[in-house]
Amino acid sequence: MSTSPILSPFLDQKALVMKGMQQSITVRMKVGSDLVSPVCVYGLCDSLGVTVRFNDINMEGMYDRSPKPRIHVSALRPLARRNFTCAHELGHHVFNHGSTIDDLREDQARSSDRPPEEILADSFAAFFLMPTLGLREAFTRRKLDPNRASASELFAIACNFGVGQSTLVNHLTYAVGMISTARRMVLGRITPKMIRTEVLSEVVSEPLTIADQHWNAATLDTEEDALLLLPVGVVVDTAILMPERVLPSGRLFRAVKPGISRVVIPGTTWATYVRVAKRQYVGLARYRHLEDSNDD
Ligand SMILES: [Zn+2]
Repeated sequence: MSTSPILSPFLDQKALVMKGMQQSITVRMKVGSDLVSPVCVYGLCDSLGVTVRFNDINMEGMYDRSPKPRIHVSALRPLARRNFTCAHELGHHVFNHGSTIDDLREDQARSSDRPPEEILADSFAAFFLMPTLGLREAFTRRKLDPNRASASELFAIACNFGVGQSTLVNHLTYAVGMISTARRMVLGRITPKMIRTEVLSEVVSEPLTIADQHWNAATLDTEEDALLLLPVGVVVDTAILMPERVLPSGRLFRAVKPGISRVVIPGTTWATYVRVAKRQYVGLARYRHLEDSNDD
């Protein structure tokens, strides 16, 4: 067999995706994280010496290499999108890319015709936030077959990993191969609003995060006015999380003010820190849960 120096675009892209995945493992190990659990990307940027700042510019994000590594994320985008963008910009950092600006992108947009550096950063971000072992475990724990899971069951898993529904579904389909393209087509027609309406039995415009009984992230980031569906039996700080109503699938809360509330189910190991930021908070990420945030 001859070895041609010209790879097909498909093989080229596949190699980049693998490289992104490999790097996500290297970085997780470097910061002492396991290869399964959901992570807080802002905390990890801090531990890697990369400053993250939210701004109110209409874009996805930006990476500044010098004088000091710095990531800018648009606070105008949905919360899960911000997490992914921050991980994408961290990808540019760990691959030693130069400073870049990432303009607005469609959530459904695929990587195929993007420059190699963007494919690398996307792949890094996806595997960093959604490690394959972690996804497998998430389905096993919930006794779910990825190809049969409902949109709202997938949404609970997306929330657990801090990503959007379509980001999870696309990753499961194209990168991990746990969902068929036929199933992805069906899921692609179900909007986040339709999922919220189904889960809450009413039409709401506020963002919703579901933390089900299998939730295993140490932290849950949300912002003022957003809704949270938590398991029955949770004990919360009601000054931060206002009880709204009881649903068949859990208890609904509204985040009413910035701060951190340790949420537990007494007598069980279920626990997480719910961290509420100001709506569309602008400033350094590390101060996002303080009521009066300092700026740099
Ligand atoms: Zn980029």
